[in-house]
Amino acid sequence: MVRLIAAGRTEKGHARPNNEDGLLIRPPLYAVADGMGGHQAGEVASRMALEALVIHEPDPRFAPASLVQAVGAANERVYTRSREHPEWSGMGTTLTAALWDGQRLHLAHVGDSRAYLLEPGSALRQLTRDHSVTSELLESGLISPEAARLHPQRHVLTRAVGVAPSVEVDVITVDVVPNARILLCTDGLSGVITPDEMAQVLARPLPPERQVSLLVRWANLRGGPDNITVLLLTAEEVRP
Ligand code: MN
Repeated sequence: MVRLIAAGRTEKGHARPNNEDGLLIRPPLYAVADGMGGHQAGEVASRMALEALVIHEPDPRFAPASLVQAVGAANERVYTRSREHPEWSGMGTTLTAALWDGQRLHLAHVGDSRAYLLEPGSALRQLTRDHSVTSELLESGLISPEAARLHPQRHVLTRAVGVAPSVEVDVITVDVVPNARILLCTDGLSGVITPDEMAQVLARPLPPERQVSLLVRWANLRGGPDNITVLLLTAEEVRP
């Protein structure tokens, strides 16, 4: 038996005037979101999407279907609101959500926020695919990793929550072994800190909240060019 300990933090960083990221820790439901759109619309989109997840209250017994439905509800909510308010037209958000069923973690993912898995004795592994122009070019072999990193459209998403009447959602389910860690983050972390560096921090014998603060601080030291959100789930063994 394992139980999940959650720690999370979201910060503005050094370059952006406000924080358009959002963070949700409401066991058994967890999520990160990175909103986009002018006139504070990004903030509205990420907050509305996370609220929709909470209102929809996905049932772990019916995961992952219930989680995908909740993401669909979030999409509808953001999309409807953007149609009602011209100043919010075109707003959207990434959404990477996780639902714990007591044994397995179910992820629903849209956009370029990320989920990583660190199992004892293994390297940090990215569970999600970025839905961005450059990662699709990279996956189809049309550009090199180096060109992808410098590509002018590297931040342009091919999928987001709230920009169309419906959205395609990636679903990933992982078995969670004792001492495994799942890290959810927005691109404000993954854009400046490499997976090896993330693993270095997670390898340190520190409480989860400290590991989260260190990751956020490191992203800020790299200039904090974007809003930074980190959510860490640590699987602790429970003896019956
Ligand atoms: Mn971002």
